Amino acid sequence: MEFVYTPKNLTPRIVSVRGSFNDWGQWYMRKTANGTWILRTCLKPGNYQYKFFIDGKWVKDMSKVDPTADGYADDGYGGKNAVKVVSGLSTLAIDFRPERPPYLSIADNRTVVRFQVGRGLIENATLVTSIGTFKMERQVWWSSGEVWRGEVPAVEPFEYYFTIQANGSSYEVFNSSNEPFFKFDGKDRFPQLQWVSTGVGYQIFPDRFYNGNRSNDALALDHDELILNQVSPGKPILSNWSDPITPLHCCHQYFGGDIAGITQKLDYLQSLGVTLIYLNPIFLSGSAHGYDTYDYYRLDPKFGTDEELRTFLNEAHKSGIRVIFDFVPDHTGIGHWAFIDVWKRGNQSPYWDWYFVKKWPFKLGDGSAYTGWWGIGSLPKLNTENPKVKEYLMNAALKWLDFGFDGFRVDVPNDLVNADEFFRELRAKVKAKHPDAYMVGEIWTLSPDWVDGSKFDSLMNYALGKDILLPYARGSLSGKATMNLLGKYYAAYGENVAAMGFNLVDSHDTSRVLTDLGGGKLGDKPDQEAIQRQKLLSALLYTLPGMPVTFQGDECAFLGDKSHYDEQRYPFQWEKCNGDMLRHYRSLAELRKSVPALTSSKILFYRTQGSVLSFFRGHNNEVLVIANNGGRSELELPEGTWKEIWPEKGKEFKESVEIPAVSLVVLERG
Ligand code: CA
Repeated sequence: MEFVYTPKNLTPRIVSVRGSFNDWGQWYMRKTANGTWILRTCLKPGNYQYKFFIDGKWVKDMSKVDPTADGYADDGYGGKNAVKVVSGLSTLAIDFRPERPPYLSIADNRTVVRFQVGRGLIENATLVTSIGTFKMERQVWWSSGEVWRGEVPAVEPFEYYFTIQANGSSYEVFNSSNEPFFKFDGKDRFPQLQWVSTGVGYQIFPDRFYNGNRSNDALALDHDELILNQVSPGKPILSNWSDPITPLHCCHQYFGGDIAGITQKLDYLQSLGVTLIYLNPIFLSGSAHGYDTYDYYRLDPKFGTDEELRTFLNEAHKSGIRVIFDFVPDHTGIGHWAFIDVWKRGNQSPYWDWYFVKKWPFKLGDGSAYTGWWGIGSLPKLNTENPKVKEYLMNAALKWLDFGFDGFRVDVPNDLVNADEFFRELRAKVKAKHPDAYMVGEIWTLSPDWVDGSKFDSLMNYALGKDILLPYARGSLSGKATMNLLGKYYAAYGENVAAMGFNLVDSHDTSRVLTDLGGGKLGDKPDQEAIQRQKLLSALLYTLPGMPVTFQGDECAFLGDKSHYDEQRYPFQWEKCNGDMLRHYRSLAELRKSVPALTSSKILFYRTQGSVLSFFRGHNNEVLVIANNGGRSELELPEGTWKEIWPEKGKEFKESVEIPAVSLVVLERG
């Protein structure tokens, strides 16, 4: 259903449509380039009356302004409402908003055009353009809707419309009655970072990965936050690598891991196919996790020297590994020099407006005296509306990109004061100088507005890994229920966005994946089923669009329960690595590297059946991935011959394939 308003001799600022379908509330219309206002929406069959509401005023007689109506009716106030009749057919309403990435994006150097429509309503669709006609495919679906996808194998200006077949008839889907063709100007406003899409990610928690330099270990103790804190003081601990967990484990028990240690383990990371390292915070801070920054411009000496950092980045780059840092603009630690100055001098401090102080003088750590992140006294919140604060923070991000980092992950972006404006500005500044820099936001939920081209390239996709793939791998979601969720996920994000996905299941902030899959706590021995389920989960992550990201040690089948002093952060016990799981991760990396379809942007659902779900990968649907979270199952194959390429190589199948219990199989069209 489409509402169209073409102003005759005025230039309205806001136009909405109010009618019996929305209880006469306001649905805002969108102004198109030629001045026409449009709203497309889906309505159930029925007769509806409505009026336009222009700059706060009702239109008196709709028959004079809306020739697209099916009729007009007395409004009871001496004017006329417009009437639209929605027959069964108009449930064919096409949802298409080409200004948004889910509907139009550039991925793999193709222009991808997609629309959404009610589930099972149309039989065929074609993308008709000024540079060719392209068959569309039913790409992904869920219980009530589906996405149709067409790709133009070029990025250049073109005009287009759709034809669809439904109920044996053909329909054309135009932009509007007076401007029938949609127009694409050929410009890519939200470029995909191909190096991310083809990559393999790995998260490192520096204090707990590897100790490469014993001489800096004790440096952690001299500036720990507990020493400064006047409300909850304490004493940090320096432990040996395999010492037991204490109650200070999450934050103030140090183990001596450092940058030099990561450099020494680059060969290991290379053997895992890693091309991107995400480092938890490494700048001067008062904790083992580093989220209470003291100085954004300075490497924490417990992690090493600038020289060691320089060496690490150079060696990593030589090994084909890029590195992103963790950026925490929402709050500082209490030891930040600006906060210390405020604490000492009150409103005489030039940094008074950097924070939100409620009473002064105060004690360091007193969360009632100033605003802290989530009320936490050790994390005073920054006033990110203050231009000086913005400049300080953004220049820090730029400094480290200039230094050699390849992007960053942002901690709790949605908590920032003035978040939207802050991240728009940050993106503009970063991309102007470092167009290839990867910007990832720590947003845990499906949030298309954060990845619309104005802020982040990707979110931390717990929405995919933790909310969809984990319950499937655990066996608590059927194939169909999982595909419904995946369908909504892929419908919500642009193809470029999904392909730049920072796809993780767990991290320093959650229990380990193997623990969540029933493997037990740190120190337990996981059973074979839990191991098998982690293998299934990681195989899904490595075969879906986007970059799989492994939290350090998951590849060794380590366990860790978050509720027990964040034991998922326990130091990497190198000699306890599970070789079977390690070989599995290595073979997944090898698979991704050797099969370009698996690092392409495109996914197309095949089918579900009981515990099985399956999807195609590659621009010609040349690879078929079949997952099974239950008992042994047989799946009918698409036409042709299919050759297994993982986990075994070479077996050929026609018509059907048997999928072993709790496993994943990758086939290639023969
Ligand atoms: Ca060390």
